[in-house]
Amino acid sequence: MTLTELTIASARQGLREKQFSARELTEAHLAAIDALNPRLNAYVTVTAERALAQADAADAALAAGKLAPLTGIPLAIKDVFCTEGVRTAAGSHILEPFVPPYESTVSANLLRDGAIFLGKTNMDEFAMGSSNMTSAYGPVANPWTRRQDNAALLVPGGSSGGSASAVAARIAMGATGTDTGGSIRQPASFCGIVGMKPTYGRCSRWGVVAFASSLDHPGPFGRTVEDCAILLGSMAGHDPKDSTSADVPVPDFAAACRRGVKGLRIGVPREYRMDGMPEDIERLWRQGLDWLRDAGAEIVDVSLPHTKYGLTTYYIVAPAEASSNLARYDGVRFGLREDGADLRDLYERTRAAGFGAEVRRRVLIGTYVLSAGYYDAYYLRAQKVRALILRDFTEVFVHVDALVTPTAPSAAFAQGENMDDPIKMYLNDVFTVPANMSGVPGISVPAGLDANGLPLGLQVLAKPFDEETVFTVGAALERTAQFHASPQIRAGA
Ligand code: GLN
Repeated sequence: MTLTELTIASARQGLREKQFSARELTEAHLAAIDALNPRLNAYVTVTAERALAQADAADAALAAGKLAPLTGIPLAIKDVFCTEGVRTAAGSHILEPFVPPYESTVSANLLRDGAIFLGKTNMDEFAMGSSNMTSAYGPVANPWTRRQDNAALLVPGGSSGGSASAVAARIAMGATGTDTGGSIRQPASFCGIVGMKPTYGRCSRWGVVAFASSLDHPGPFGRTVEDCAILLGSMAGHDPKDSTSADVPVPDFAAACRRGVKGLRIGVPREYRMDGMPEDIERLWRQGLDWLRDAGAEIVDVSLPHTKYGLTTYYIVAPAEASSNLARYDGVRFGLREDGADLRDLYERTRAAGFGAEVRRRVLIGTYVLSAGYYDAYYLRAQKVRALILRDFTEVFVHVDALVTPTAPSAAFAQGENMDDPIKMYLNDVFTVPANMSGVPGISVPAGLDANGLPLGLQVLAKPFDEETVFTVGAALERTAQFHASPQIRAGA
């Protein structure tokens, strides 16, 4: 087996048993990046020299018997996590010159645990998007192509599309992402890998370029549920530098992957049965529920009545917070500056030159819903509906241990599709957004292929800080789905 095919769990073992070195593992990935990244554009920055130095340090640690959970494992970091001395542009032209003097807590935790960073991954500008088409650094390609038309490049989903594409194409063993409305789970579904959004507060947001602070969740990507569990174990933890970080113990998530689902109650929210959902997705959803029933779980119909307001309230709350967070990009303190006749002119020129169309649209919506005359009608009302969405989940989790739904209403679409209609693009998040509005943890697990040969994911949700049940149910789906198909564009293919 080639080194780039290994899971994190098996690479860890191989490194410990000295079957190969961290340097060999890292070199294999760097060579694969050289070969594939020109086509995929998954990485915006490759830190080869740094990665090799980290690999040598990992080999020294391994030789000395100093093992940390991720010693020698090569990962990719979404370009929204500040990395000390390595440019962090968050997909935006306005941050093109920004080299952070500090490391985000999540990436620092991974480094503490011995990980190797291959580079920074492409993303939608400020994480706003579902297709990676809004990046100032060009679109990312999905390594999967349609059976009938393998020339057309498909989107990897977004906003963490670069991370998902890299992990699927075997040019990273795992990656970090952020999920504000679905940006980990939807790209995981589109790329046939596993993506996990933990509970709000589980992973620190310190040093993560902010989109919508009350909705932003850092989380991992991997090719297996267990790999995501291993990564989350390192990423998570209380951080005094983030006031919303939760001071709760980090359990052994990987152990939860080995538990059975016997006796668990799995809810099927009837509001997720959307009109016009592709038959392939309906079928896979039913199949997933059958698998869990066969494994001993009890399947129950439940209702989350406020789901239908999830998307509309999200597209008020998220732009409102974004417009406020993005006010800091004024040409004075960070990144790009376009000189002007006076201060106001400098602000206007900098922001006009630095922000792309989608970001400008969000800033306009956000400032509108926060403005004096409309605050009560839009923002305040959206916050009230948000409380009702959370109450739906609280009530339902009295009766069930987890919920299982499709991750996204479609498989990957072609680059350029859905671009003329922002509302259509926003519909991608219909199944993922409620977990951000409520903060509950969720995972997307690849469960099968559609008629075009493209991967589809199933989503598992559980109550706040019960990531263990998410991993248990996710791993049970994974064991039965036996999803071993791999994308056409991948290392070693
Ligand atoms: N697609 C959603 C948006 O554009 C979610 C993005 C995200 O989760 N970062 O807002």
